[in-house]
Amino acid sequence: MKIPILCPKCNKPMLTHFSYHPTDGHICCKTCKQYNHDVSFFSHEKDYDTVHLIMITVNLTSQLHISFDFWQNKVFIYQELDPKNNASLTTIPFFEPDFSNYDDLIKKLQTYIVFL
Ligand SMILES: [Zn+2]
Repeated sequence: MKIPILCPKCNKPMLTHFSYHPTDGHICCKTCKQYNHDVSFFSHEKDYDTVHLIMITVNLTSQLHISFDFWQNKVFIYQELDPKNNASLTTIPFFEPDFSNYDDLIKKLQTYIVFL
C-alpha cells in the first residue's frame, strides 16, 4: 500500500516528520490529527513510499486505537497512545484497510471491536 499524501478523511496534506530509532532505523510518519479524526501512516527508510504501519484512532473519547502492521500482518487494538509500550488489548486477523470511505472504515472497525 502506497503512503498517501492527503489525509483520507479531510483531504488536507498530512504533516510529515522523520524520526530515528536505534533498532528500527529511520521512520517517516505522515499524520493528520483533528478534532474528529486522528490517523498516522508510517514508512521505513527501506521504502518511504510504502506503508509499513497505520495507526487510526477509532474512538477519540475512549482513546481506542487500531494499528495495521503490514510487516507482521497483524492488526492490534490499543487503548494507549504509544504503541511501543506493547499494551495492545488484542489482535484481530489482518486485512488491508480501505480508505476510499474513511467513515465507513471507522464504522467497520468499531463493529469489529464490539464483537471482541
Ligand atoms: Zn485529516
